[in-house]
Amino acid sequence: MAAGLEGGTSPDGLFTPALVIGANLPDLIDKPVGVFFPDLGLGTGRGLAHTLVFNLGLLAIGVYLYGHGRPWFLYVALASLGHLVLDEMWRLPRVLLWPFYGFSFPRVGRRGFMAQILAWWQALRTQPGVYGVEAAGAMLILVYLWRYLPYGGKLG
Ligand SMILES: [Zn+2]
Repeated sequence: MAAGLEGGTSPDGLFTPALVIGANLPDLIDKPVGVFFPDLGLGTGRGLAHTLVFNLGLLAIGVYLYGHGRPWFLYVALASLGHLVLDEMWRLPRVLLWPFYGFSFPRVGRRGFMAQILAWWQALRTQPGVYGVEAAGAMLILVYLWRYLPYGGKLG
């Protein structure tokens, strides 16, 4: 195997972490926003970071930085676009194509922190597959955070 590719890293050392972060980026942004700022109407947990406008903006920045010798942001942007596909965002065109359907995001159920937590609990019970994918993504982030901790995650 070529030098630099052992252990799951790319020659620039950022490919895999950038993909992991990018693949989860829309949820890393929109889920906390939905919980802590329920008046923004992100009851679906999918808001600005799940829009085509946001992700095409990321892609434009990624292409620009790629041209300046910094490819990692392009990896983040492409993985974030992949997140939209796996989320099947075409089923939520008001979010995906924001702001063409108006500036507000779809509101779901009651508003407020506990209402949001209860809504997600309900979704967990009715659509466990969605959270399985989310949990897998969170585990990957934890693995890579652990790996890039000092000492390579090896204690003792
Ligand atoms: Zn998502």
